Amino acid sequence: MADIIQLLPDHVANQIAAGEVVQRPASVVKELLENAIDAGASTIKLIVKDAGKTLIQVIDNGKGMSTTDARLSFERHATSKIKTADDLFHLHTKGFRGEALASIAAIAHVELKTKQEQDEVGTNLTIEGSRVDSQEVVVTPNGTSVSVKNLFFNIPARRNFLKSNAVELRHIIDEFHRVALAHPTIHFSFYNNGSESFNLPVSNYRQRIVNIFGSKTNERLVPVEEETEVLKISGFVGKPEFAKKTRGEQYFFVNDRFIKSAYLNHAILSAFEGLIKSGTHPSYFLNLTVDPQTIDINIHPTKTEIKFDDEHTLYAILRSAVKHSLGQFNIAPVIDFERDSNLDTPYNYSKTTVEPPKIEVDRDFNPFQEQKVSNKSATTTFKKQSSANWDGLYVGLQSEDTSTPSDFSEVAFETEESVSSLFEVETQHEQASTTYQLHNKYIISAIKSGMLVIDQYRAHQRILYEDFLQNITVKEGVSQQLLFALELHFSAQEIEIIKQLKDDLEHTGFVFSNIEEESVEITGVPLCVPESEVSIILEQLISDVQNEVPEANFSATDLLAKSMAKSLAIKTGQALKKDEQEHIVNKLFACKEPNVSPTNRLTFITVGVDELDKKFI
Ligand code: ADP
Ligand code: MG
Repeated sequence: MADIIQLLPDHVANQIAAGEVVQRPASVVKELLENAIDAGASTIKLIVKDAGKTLIQVIDNGKGMSTTDARLSFERHATSKIKTADDLFHLHTKGFRGEALASIAAIAHVELKTKQEQDEVGTNLTIEGSRVDSQEVVVTPNGTSVSVKNLFFNIPARRNFLKSNAVELRHIIDEFHRVALAHPTIHFSFYNNGSESFNLPVSNYRQRIVNIFGSKTNERLVPVEEETEVLKISGFVGKPEFAKKTRGEQYFFVNDRFIKSAYLNHAILSAFEGLIKSGTHPSYFLNLTVDPQTIDINIHPTKTEIKFDDEHTLYAILRSAVKHSLGQFNIAPVIDFERDSNLDTPYNYSKTTVEPPKIEVDRDFNPFQEQKVSNKSATTTFKKQSSANWDGLYVGLQSEDTSTPSDFSEVAFETEESVSSLFEVETQHEQASTTYQLHNKYIISAIKSGMLVIDQYRAHQRILYEDFLQNITVKEGVSQQLLFALELHFSAQEIEIIKQLKDDLEHTGFVFSNIEEESVEITGVPLCVPESEVSIILEQLISDVQNEVPEANFSATDLLAKSMAKSLAIKTGQALKKDEQEHIVNKLFACKEPNVSPTNRLTFITVGVDELDKKFI
């Protein structure tokens, strides 16, 4: 048989490599910024149009390239950064694989302008899908400018796979942050669709963090410094009380390279143990310096994961350094967090009962109830006495709210007692309106055919979600005026998101009296939002928008309603009074779509008497 193996043409090989190196516009941004840093630039400008789908340009004042190098830089495995395999273990540059430019040029229209200081003129090179279109002499400043246009123009599948501009821009900004944080001694600027989004002058590390994340960040930082033989740590962790509900500001840099490491992240979390509420995430901005020989960066094409020789030691040092800093800066455990969940009910039930829920009114008008009271008065004393013993059975199960178990015991007792047929009818009815909370998580409610088991968190999310959605669409959310205006600080980017959502937020009941560059002033909040939760809700909302859950029918309104419902819904673990339980049951079944949560999870299940009967066979 004839030989069938052949070498792939370069442009095909480059496209394949591009699949690994360039996943989205943000990958190009990363590679170009890193090249500029490797070129020793002190000023780097990033220009992006349409979230990088139309244009990504990086202009640096680094050392530039000669005419020949300019041409060579687009060849695969062409690099000036290593010469031998041994050099891999002494890396002091970001790049070394020599495939970024080749990969990018294989899947986009690229224009390179570059000039070295000693040369009079520079080179202008244009490449389309790996094919050099032109190479000319050009007058250009010292340094390099690379423009990448129409990314994935020749791979429609990849282009179509890109997310919305908001999401892609978010990824670009993330990359920009990572690079800018690792290099505070370089002046970075970032232009998005013609307007300046960031201008980060040369500064120290703290100042760089503040310039990126807003002035509120400054007071939240606790310095971490540690130097041992194997590892030097410098940077900051966020004070525990500012831990966020969402991961976000968590940055590890190893030898100035941003890396992801679940293991090291765990070391930080364990240092924060007992200081932050579970489910919240501390911020950190930590630079680790290690001997390049002790790490392997080459385990992943995008170089965001690395392998350490001795992870265990790093873990231990990191953990103790962070612990030490938290202790030294007098960050005593914040006992308040415990109090929070119990005392500050996330939303105000007394208020909701003031505006009478329709279904509860129905319950009061129930003709059976009157009959029941008079009928049973004779047995009341007996029941009360015996319920004391019943209570004992529920120790450990019950919430601090004792009304629930005693009510339950009453029902249980009645059921035992019910002998006459008349009683049975009544009991059944009593059960229908009786709820019981199980493990502060489920609400059990008796129905004719058996029982309902309702997930309290999901059910409440559904209720709030429909409420918010209605408020936003009919624009009639009720607002409660705050006694003192609330000033909240955000980064410039976060403010942009708030501005976008301002109208919808106002329809839910928020009143913004002022929106500045890095802060907002709020004078009114929706009726169901306690003041203490406002910043958490907005923070969660911003993060939800930034991460825009990829759903087909996404709309800002829907996301807002979902996010607020998620933040405000009573959580698993919260004890509910009987009327609160009933309120949830009634409201849930008044919803348009009671059976699923806003994120499409089941809100309740039913267990039939027949199923129970089977179990008792
Ligand atoms: P790598 O960075 O892994 O070496 P790249 O494909 O990113 O590979 O770049 C190839 C080469 O092109 C680099 O090694 C460098 O010599 C040169 N180069 C790329 N970008 C720049 C720049 N902005 N300034 C100067 N030289 C550059
Ligand atoms: Mg590179």
